[in-house]
Amino acid sequence: MITSEVYKLADTVLAKKNIIAAADQLRDYVVSCRRDFHKHAEVGWTEFRTGSIVARTLLDMGGWQVEYGPSIYDKSLMMGMPSEAQLEKYMQRAIAQGGDKEIIEKMRGGYTGVVATLVTGDGNGPTVAFRVDIDANDLIEAKEEKHRPYREGFASINDGAMHGCGHDCHTATGLLAARILLANKDLLPPGKIKIIFQTGEEGGRGGQPMAAAGVADGADYFMAIHVGVQKDGALGGIAAGVSHMMNSTKSDVFFKGVSAHAGGDPDKGKNALLAAANAVINLYAISRHSAGTSRVNVGVLEAGVGRNVIADRAMMKMEVRGETDTVHEYMQERALAVIEGAAKMYGVDYVVKKAGQTITAPCDDKMVDFVVDAAMEIPGIKRAIRVESMSGGGEDCTFFMRRVQAGGGIATMAMIGTNGPAVAHNEYFDVDEEVLLNGAKLIGVVAVNALAKGKAK
Ligand SMILES: [Zn+2]
Ligand SMILES: [Zn+2]
Repeated sequence: MITSEVYKLADTVLAKKNIIAAADQLRDYVVSCRRDFHKHAEVGWTEFRTGSIVARTLLDMGGWQVEYGPSIYDKSLMMGMPSEAQLEKYMQRAIAQGGDKEIIEKMRGGYTGVVATLVTGDGNGPTVAFRVDIDANDLIEAKEEKHRPYREGFASINDGAMHGCGHDCHTATGLLAARILLANKDLLPPGKIKIIFQTGEEGGRGGQPMAAAGVADGADYFMAIHVGVQKDGALGGIAAGVSHMMNSTKSDVFFKGVSAHAGGDPDKGKNALLAAANAVINLYAISRHSAGTSRVNVGVLEAGVGRNVIADRAMMKMEVRGETDTVHEYMQERALAVIEGAAKMYGVDYVVKKAGQTITAPCDDKMVDFVVDAAMEIPGIKRAIRVESMSGGGEDCTFFMRRVQAGGGIATMAMIGTNGPAVAHNEYFDVDEEVLLNGAKLIGVVAVNALAKGKAK
């Protein structure tokens, strides 16, 4: 006798087969999406074009509930924001570059993320949530023939913004996954699928306020994805989980001194440039903690206004990282002491403004196994390892992971392997675009399997 259970099983098998085939058929679509986002790279809180196109595309698909604007953020936790004037400038740029004006208006203030929800059947089932991030890096893209995005005409046209971490790929992957899941909606077991298009991952800024607004709450299963780029042989592999994520604190530091004629009255000045320069050197000289790995970096240093003027202002963008809370707190405490000491040496004032944060979160073994099993159902994925070390990297998808775990769900961050000519955050960064298909198929199969399995608890 054929029971309804058998029909249901047949439906999920068919859904997965369709999803995998549909992804392959939409190769040109997803590649063109990725290249369009790559060309119009936007850094954290300014992804008006990207976010509005994501929202518009999902709305046009029909079937997905699409949320965007202030309701998906806890405003009090939005850090490292550009000024209002800058936000306005980037909004206008986004409109000029083909963003959706009406949607952009509702994203005013930097609320550039999008949350999409697909209710399957009567909705009475588990919730499975995915995180893809959409922001670019503060980076100047290579403009040389050897760099494919430049050679093929999709290098960033936005000064100082480049997708050097692959978030253009994540955005396109999320849209492809949305399309192929929707096309098979009627075959899917009841429940909810969520795709969170997160802003401002770089600098650890977007995850916390979106997680605090509850956008991932109630998820039984959660998976964040990230491309993992290696020079050779990474394509076709995935890591279902990561270890050694770093806690980090990002800060903007402002030194304020006194300007004076550098030749005539050097003793009347208070040199902010020297204070900042000494702070930088000594930040890198912090003794390392014995209890775990740590990092420190100053990525931006700006000071002074004129050749013969004692520099009365300096600004730096810096971060510290630590593998454990203890190591992280130690690094931050020592960093603040170094900054204070450097300011004191030159008699200048200073302000430290927190600009972002990442925390750690464990990948749940059960979710890791679940993702490995799903990956092995996908012909394009040949190898799946359980856990890869992020060795010094950090991610703010951890804020979602913690919320999901606190609610009794299981969570992981998966790396989708691809070959590429350069490391992340490098001006020559690029991927093998086959990774877009592997990512979307993985989201698709994990979603189907999660809905079929029921609540994770
Ligand atoms: Zn990234
Ligand atoms: Zn990055």
